[in-house]
Amino acid sequence: MASPGNTSKKLYEGKAKIIYRTPDPQVLLTYFKDDATAFNAQKRGQITGKGKINCTISTYLFQCLEQAGIPTHWISTPGDRQMYVKALTIFPLEVVVRNLAAGSLCRQTGLALGYRLDPPLVEFYYKNDALADPLLTPDRLRVMGLATPDQVHILGTKALEINHILQHFFRACAITLVDFKLEFGLDHRGNILLGDEISPDTCRLWDQNSQDETQRVMDKDRFRQDLGQVEQAYQRVLERVAAQSTKN
Ligand code: UDP
Repeated sequence: MASPGNTSKKLYEGKAKIIYRTPDPQVLLTYFKDDATAFNAQKRGQITGKGKINCTISTYLFQCLEQAGIPTHWISTPGDRQMYVKALTIFPLEVVVRNLAAGSLCRQTGLALGYRLDPPLVEFYYKNDALADPLLTPDRLRVMGLATPDQVHILGTKALEINHILQHFFRACAITLVDFKLEFGLDHRGNILLGDEISPDTCRLWDQNSQDETQRVMDKDRFRQDLGQVEQAYQRVLERVAAQSTKN
């Protein structure tokens, strides 16, 4: 499927999305691709229909957060892979919230998969492909000056609030929100807004109707670990999120 706009309006192309300028400098158009990468782009592939699914899931989740009082960059979703968003200056940080141990936390600490983290863990990673997105300590964050101490505090607090709202939402979908990654940015007035996307690409989601360690996985770990049935898992997340959103 062709992307919208002509190339002269393209602002940035990332691994999963293309960002276009619009006539309004405060508004950007995001186009969600089917391309998938993992392990710092060492593994590449396509997940058919992913762009459409992630755009739709993100739309529902941004609307859910907005209704709960969390400001996001979402403006509207004019097409099934397209989202108008507020232009942000993104902090070069990945804010990860973890409710259960998985992924890099298990690899780096030896904690068992699924170990409950109560209270949830909030971690900051430096968004830098060349450095493979390293985990930052509070002191490293301060020295690097990627955000002020006040901003770091706000990002951590907002991430926990978002976790609370999304955990509740996904629980109603019979899905466990294991962990997820957020990106935040500043709008032209200096407000901190949630940016990027919230989707099975950026969250770990386990089906509460399945106890099987492999079958329960409804997120990008199916692609990372070659578990198969990737599109079907993303589609099942979409169906449950859509059903829950129309109830609210
Ligand atoms: N994540 C992401 N983008 C990244 C790194 C992580 O969306 O560049 C998400 C990932 O999908 C998971 C959470 O952040 O939901 C925590 O990822 P982790 O640190 O465990 O890294 P991984 O195991 O994916 O290498």
